[in-house]
Parts: sequence; structure tokens; C-alpha cells
Amino acid sequence: MVIIMKENATEENIKNVCEYVRKFNLSTHVVNGAERSIIGVIGNVEVLEDKPISSMEGVYDVVRISSPYKLVSRSAKPDNTVVRVKDVDIGGGSFVMMAGPCAIESYEQMLEAAKAVKKSGAKVLRGGAYKPRSSPYSFQGLEEEGLKILNAVGRETGMVTITEIVSSSHIEKVSQYADILQVGSRNMQNFELLKEIGKSNMPVLLKRGLSSTIEEWLNAAEYIMKEGNPNVILCERGIRTFETYTRNTLDLNAVAAVKNLSHLPVIVDPSHGTGRRDLIAPLSRAAVAVGADGLIIEVHPHPDMALSDGAQSLTPEEFDNVSKEVNKILLALKD
Ligand code: PEP
Ligand code: MN
Repeated sequence: MVIIMKENATEENIKNVCEYVRKFNLSTHVVNGAERSIIGVIGNVEVLEDKPISSMEGVYDVVRISSPYKLVSRSAKPDNTVVRVKDVDIGGGSFVMMAGPCAIESYEQMLEAAKAVKKSGAKVLRGGAYKPRSSPYSFQGLEEEGLKILNAVGRETGMVTITEIVSSSHIEKVSQYADILQVGSRNMQNFELLKEIGKSNMPVLLKRGLSSTIEEWLNAAEYIMKEGNPNVILCERGIRTFETYTRNTLDLNAVAAVKNLSHLPVIVDPSHGTGRRDLIAPLSRAAVAVGADGLIIEVHPHPDMALSDGAQSLTPEEFDNVSKEVNKILLALKD
């Protein structure tokens, strides 16, 4: 069950509702959104059936939800969530381009990439400092030195920054240097990490697990929201299928489905979704058309020299073309 509070509900109103509900042996989780607070009620909610909660002061609506995820569900919050990061809105009608290399390799590489993608309309700069690679012999990232580079380049170019977090012991450190935490596919069900991120208020981009169902993905988002962090952004990055021509199969079904099921913004990653430079442009166009709230694309000043994911990285010129095509589709959809 979810109790939706009125926009002008006071702290006192929220406290009263929580205390009342807890008398029935139920637990409550308050999520303070930008416009209103919602209270998730967990437990045997049948006992509340005949109780006058909807007439308590500050209560807007009481919604029974039978899906396993509640706070992320659109029935808990019909309006689209907008995650505001500095001056960038993610979700709720604005389309955001996130771009940059797979891994942070040097200050010069990041600055060159950042200047180029910014010129082409990207507002968010990506770059991994901790790289969870399939092979332990592959480049593992520059770690804290990489975070410092990302932070310096973000400030210099005035871009919002995003980087992957691989351990809950890194939350304080990574939050100091980056604006958005990225939970990678391999960690989508690292529940301790999700819970700890939920206790912070940091914006988080939650990538779909390599072989996760839509329900598992939304449950992972619920883990974060349940701890009180409403700033969750979902990211479809392709799933494992029988097909080997592409690295993964970008599941655009899931984007349309999740836009129905949840109020959270959905970003599409055609780089990992295809693993092939030649497929990024067409899948980016498709992602816009299917209703994504933005794209995250790997761009490297010299993809052939990239220390990771070069085969799926665009050159700055290629990214500029994708960006122009995206804008054309966005315009067409507005008509
Ligand atoms: C990445 O963004 O570079 C990355 C490792 O992504 P994923 O977790 O989707 O594989
Ligand atoms: Mn990558």
C-alpha cells in the first residue's frame, strides 16, 4: 500500500500517519519527492481496509498495489519523476544526452571528449574510474585518480558528471567527485550496494542486469527508493539473448513497458546494447521514437586507441551526427 500525501502536507502530518499505521504492526518508508511525499506501507495491509486513513490530515490518496514493487510503480505516482541534477532535468519531457568514453584514461582524453560532446548537445559527461571488466587482465580503471580527472573536466566544461560505483564503501568518495552514481549491470542485484545508495540522496542511474527481467530491474529500483532516495533513473543497456552478432540485444520492448509501469525516467544505452559502432545511430533513433528520456553513448576522441569498449565507441563526429538525428526526431514528435 502507498499513502500519497498532499503537496502541502507537513512533517507533523507525515509523522502522524506513520505512527498510526505502525500501531497495526506494519512498517513505513517515507520518500520525499520534489512535489510531495509518499509513504510506502509494508506488511499485512488488509488490517487497514476499514481504517479512515484517507481522511487523515495531509493525506491525498491511498493506493493498494499488488505488484512486488510499490514506490517505483506508476500507480503510486502517476506523474513522471524528474530527477534534477544541477541545472539538468532528467525525465518529465526533456531529453538528455549523456556521452563520454567508457573509461577515464587521462585528463587530456577526457577534456577532448567532453568539449566535443558538449558542443554536440550532451549535458552529462560519462567516464568510468572503476571498471568491472569481464577479464581481470583487462584495464581496471584509474580509480580515485580517474574520479579527480572527471571532476576537474566536469567543472571546466560546466557538465554534470556520471561514473560507475562498484562498492558501498566507495559511496562517500565517489559522491564527492561525481554528480550521478551509475550502478552497472553486474551490480544491479548487489542489494547491499543498492540499500546504501538508497540511504544517500545522490541521483543514481540503475542499469538493467545482463539477464534481468523487467520485474527484477524494477525491484532493484525499489530497493533504492525504499531507503528514501527518490532520485532513481533507469537505464536499458541490452540483455543476453541467443544472438551473438551483437554484444547484447537492446530491449526496446522494456523501455516502452517500463514507461507504462513506472514513473521513473528511462535512459537507453545503445553502446552496450549493441556493442557495435555501426548500430549506435539506428538504435539511438529508435530509442527516441519509443519514448526514452535520454541516451547514454560511449564517445572516444580516438576509438581505435581506447583502453576499453573501443569497438562500440563513436568518434566525436559520429556522435555529432547521432545528436542531430535525435533532435530531428524529437522535433517531429512535438508536431
Ligand atoms: C559502462 O557503462 O561502461 C558499463 C560497464 O556498462 P554496463 O554495466 O551496462 O555493462
Ligand atoms: Mn563500456
